[in-house]
Amino acid sequence: MQIGNMIGMRSLRYLRQERILGKESKKLRNASVGIVGIGGIGSNSALLCTQLGVEKLILVDRDFVQVTNLSRQSLFSERSIGKPKASEAEKILHKINSDVDINAYQDQLSHKNVGAILGETGVILDCTDNYDTRKIINEYAWSNKKTWIFASAFGMECMLSTVIPGKTPCFQCWAKEPEVESNCSEAGIMNTTTAFISSLQIQEMVNLLCFGKPVFAGSLFYGDLRNGIFHKKKLKTQKDCACCRKQKA
Ligand SMILES: [Zn+2]
Repeated sequence: MQIGNMIGMRSLRYLRQERILGKESKKLRNASVGIVGIGGIGSNSALLCTQLGVEKLILVDRDFVQVTNLSRQSLFSERSIGKPKASEAEKILHKINSDVDINAYQDQLSHKNVGAILGETGVILDCTDNYDTRKIINEYAWSNKKTWIFASAFGMECMLSTVIPGKTPCFQCWAKEPEVESNCSEAGIMNTTTAFISSLQIQEMVNLLCFGKPVFAGSLFYGDLRNGIFHKKKLKTQKDCACCRKQKA
C-alpha cells in the first residue's frame, strides 16, 4: 500500500470509536495490553484489542490449535490446526491491523517467566481457565501494581472482575482454590458465552484506560446466559489473605 493511502487509512480507521470516546480514544494507542490464554475468551479479546488499535499486545499461550477449538476461538481457521496458538494469533492479527505491535510467547506462565513476559504491560487480561495461573497473575500484578481483569466462562455462565492492587480486594481474597478444577473440555462451553464475556472484558478495559472508571473494580459480575440472570456483587478483602498479607509485611 502506498504511504499516502496508509496515512489516509490511519486517520479514518478509528473514526467511529472516536465519535464515542473523543480525545480519550488516543489512550488506547498508548496502551500495552497483556493477554494470558488465547482460547475462547482470549482470542476474541485479542481481536477486539487489535481492532481498537492498542499500541502493544502481548499474547501468552503454551497450546496448539485443535479442531475442538474452532467452534468458538474466533481467530483460528482449519488451516490453523496444529500451529502454536500465540504465534498463529499474532500472524492473523497483524494482517487485521499492522499498526499494533504484537509479541507472542508460546509458554506456560510461571512465577519464573511472568516478569519477563508481562513486565511491559499496563493492563493484564486474564483469559485462562485455571486457578493456578490466575494466582500467578494475581501475585505478580499485586506486587507490581498492575491492574488486571479476570474473566471466566463455563457452559453458559460467566464471571468478570477488575483487580486494582491496593484499591480492591485481590483475587485470592475471594476466589478459593477449587478442590477439583472445572474443565470446559468435559463440561462443554458455548461460543456465545466466551464472546459475551470477552466483549465485557474489553469494554471494561476501555472504561479503565479511556475513562479511568472501571465498573467492575472490587465487584464480581456473574452472568447466566441461558436463563438471562445477571448480577454484580461487592467483594471483600480477607484479613488472612496470603497475597495481601505478604504485600503489607
Ligand atoms: Zn487478597
